[in-house]
Amino acid sequence: MHPTFDLTADERQKLWNQLFEKFENYYSNTSSLAVSPDLNLENIQNFISKCPIGDAIEPHLAMDFVIEGLSKFAVHTPHPMYYGLYNPRTTFPSILGDAIGAAFNPQLAAWSHAPFANEVENYVIREFGEKFGFTDNCDGTFASGGAEANLTAVLVALCSKFPDYLNNGLQSLSKIPVFYASSESHHSFVKAARTAGLGIHALKFIPVNGKYKMDIEKLKSQIQSDISDGFEPFMVIATAGTTGAGIIDPINEIGKIANQYKIWFHVDAAYGGAAILNTNIKHVLSGIEKADSITFDAHKWLSVPMAASLFLTSHQQILDQTFRISTHYMPKDAEGMEVIDPYTHSIQWSRRFTGLKLYMSLLTFGWDGYDKVIQHQIDMGNLLRLELIKNNWTIYNETELPVICFSDKSLNHKQDFARFFCSKIIESGKAWISAYKIGNDETLRACITNYSTTEYHIKEMIELLNQFRNEFVKLM
Ligand SMILES: *Cc1c(COP(=O)(O)O)cnc(C)c1O
Repeated sequence: MHPTFDLTADERQKLWNQLFEKFENYYSNTSSLAVSPDLNLENIQNFISKCPIGDAIEPHLAMDFVIEGLSKFAVHTPHPMYYGLYNPRTTFPSILGDAIGAAFNPQLAAWSHAPFANEVENYVIREFGEKFGFTDNCDGTFASGGAEANLTAVLVALCSKFPDYLNNGLQSLSKIPVFYASSESHHSFVKAARTAGLGIHALKFIPVNGKYKMDIEKLKSQIQSDISDGFEPFMVIATAGTTGAGIIDPINEIGKIANQYKIWFHVDAAYGGAAILNTNIKHVLSGIEKADSITFDAHKWLSVPMAASLFLTSHQQILDQTFRISTHYMPKDAEGMEVIDPYTHSIQWSRRFTGLKLYMSLLTFGWDGYDKVIQHQIDMGNLLRLELIKNNWTIYNETELPVICFSDKSLNHKQDFARFFCSKIIESGKAWISAYKIGNDETLRACITNYSTTEYHIKEMIELLNQFRNEFVKLM
């Protein structure tokens, strides 16, 4: 063993203590930091160049340096005034989970190398499968993110419709495969279309109706005309919680159409899937139980570190059919046992214990804890809506989820309306917010993505918005 790579027990003790202090300072005082960083590239590069990697500095200096860099040059998503893009403050137990995973470094590729870790992940997958209504048959895998889970969905859907594709590729198919998602769906499906070799024209965007949900009549007519034109539809995606405006597509109706045309029905619930854990709003996901597969990101509304996504399916054999492979170099210790080696069951090979952070958080808070914290975020979303309306802002999206797109109708025809507010708010260091275009209207988008956001922070946000509105009016 290299004599210094472990450091000494004494040094490790000192580093843990120092880390604890720094970390605790960040975690308990996040709200005293400016939410957004200095984006001056030169400053950032100069900062990095202060510590060349060849120099082998003391580990405590390396730690100080990295923590300083992250404190100065990052958007602080754990900040209660980060009204951002589904990036959470992470629960303390989930942080412990990530640290434990790094230290034990279990290799989950083969079941026999990490039986505890693999059985924990299987347990968590079964539990979530049951929550979503996959009662008899449920299979799944942890993925590195929603993008990987959505690519997995496209691959299994292709395998389901065209089993020969696995051996002979798309060129062996007599008809060109096409699939469908709404124009508000996530662009990871565009990448999936490319990665799978389908090409982006294989993905047909279905227009949305006045409520920004997939227009069902347009879906039907697109499928019909594609069939008459000689294409072969193989998959339709319902988005449960669009990235822009938190809109939930009509899951039941899309499921019925998928069933009618015998095509794979996937629900991209990367963000909105968390609603299943809340007693009061889980009904918004009604119909998800009929899905062939689901994408659900724990690193969004379940407040665990990036990235932990679940791909769930109600078809127990499909992951095996799509990804099965056999090698001589992988361990065979579990041969004869009724277990699955994850490397034969998913895109990844070497795998970290992705499910641990979620498991640790669930062990600590339980389903009930999540039910309540999700309710709190919904309540804060409703409060923000209420306060916005009271202050003459207009809400543009209708959703039970705490994502609010709003604007001032008397001002948002002016050029750079949204950009003005976003940059003013971000420059103030007090909050973070984004812009989203709804129809032809520029809106501001605020998501209660942080469980520590309280009434106080909502009122602060309203004050900021009103203040910058006054400035905007003066500029006109
Ligand atoms: C975030 C998101 C994704 C992508 O997930 P990543 O975890 O960022 O890869 C996919 N679909 C929807 C609806 C999302 O909101």
